[in-house]
Amino acid sequence: MKFEFIGGYSEVGKNMTLVEVGDETVVLDMGLYLPPVVGYEEGDPRDLSREDLIRIGAIPNDNKVNKKNVKGIIFGHAHLDHIGAAPYLAKKYDCDLFGTKYTMGVLKTLFEDKGKKPRNNLVAMEFNNRYKLCENFSFEFLNMTHSTMDTALVVLYTRYGNIVYSNDYKIDNHPVLMEKINTEKLKEVQPVKVLVLDSLYGNIDGKTPSESVARDMVKEVVEELKDSKNAIFFTTFASHIPRLRSIVDYGRKLGRKVVFLGRSLHKYADVAKELGIVNFVDVDIVGYGNLVRKRLKDINEHRDEYLVICTGNQGEKGSVLTRIAEGDLPFEFQSGDSVIFSCRTIPTKETIKNREHLEKLLKENGVRIWKDIHVSGHGF
Ligand SMILES: [Zn+2]
Repeated sequence: MKFEFIGGYSEVGKNMTLVEVGDETVVLDMGLYLPPVVGYEEGDPRDLSREDLIRIGAIPNDNKVNKKNVKGIIFGHAHLDHIGAAPYLAKKYDCDLFGTKYTMGVLKTLFEDKGKKPRNNLVAMEFNNRYKLCENFSFEFLNMTHSTMDTALVVLYTRYGNIVYSNDYKIDNHPVLMEKINTEKLKEVQPVKVLVLDSLYGNIDGKTPSESVARDMVKEVVEELKDSKNAIFFTTFASHIPRLRSIVDYGRKLGRKVVFLGRSLHKYADVAKELGIVNFVDVDIVGYGNLVRKRLKDINEHRDEYLVICTGNQGEKGSVLTRIAEGDLPFEFQSGDSVIFSCRTIPTKETIKNREHLEKLLKENGVRIWKDIHVSGHGF
């Protein structure tokens, strides 16, 4: 049994691990490392080729991988640092791509964004369903708790013993919208030969609070704003479906119309809705250009009738919140309006700078800023 670590571990992104038994190989994750793409200033990053992306360090360098031996590519969860490189790399592998339903739903949209039909089959798997992949490998997905839906702990069964791979997780005994870890099932996986665990903040002592604590934090903010006649804007990670669920649930109680604004929110929420993971029936999900403008004009005139959830939690350029703050969209923040950041600022130079810029603009308009209404999806 041989392991090869192509990317990830010491960096937040670019996850890709190879496991080899005999002349067969399984790939675990193919992730993106976002900062080089976000900070790319020599043109539109969407035009970058596979080779360009490897050169700037945005995707794993798999040039030396013996692709003929790879029998399957298995994805643990739907975050971009785990699936984001697949549309660039997977086509060189003559094998299927496997993940849980939500993961594969999101991956499908990534291929569609690039306007390409994937060359590989995308196979959506159930949890707790052992699958014989090839002579040397069977695998199974077990429930794991994290900040996006259908996160899995991957178990590889080989003749040399079982391998457990869990990359990004927290042990949450009171999760929102997802199943708890199935500890009985985990016991059945014993004996484990190799355990591969990695999680951001894994080096910090302490205990990450449950997502139900974040739900209570959202509730408290909303209760404080119940008599407000001003605009209320929430922003969070677009893939954080449990958090969106909590904001929608308490937003409804204010009697306001809940609306999602922004492309990535549209993408992640739509997949969750289509798969029946969440019921966002009375929520308007508005993703694109003119429709966002049109809706914002209406929100500007009826600011006490809406609760907005929009993109821009990291102050990203081109996000709805940043564009409003920069005067690029037809909504004007006024004194007394609230912007709630249900997230943590990712500690990279670029995001810290972007968030400072955004908050400065919001404060100039007298906006009340609520920060860190959040608990992490990573265990420590
Ligand atoms: Zn993750």
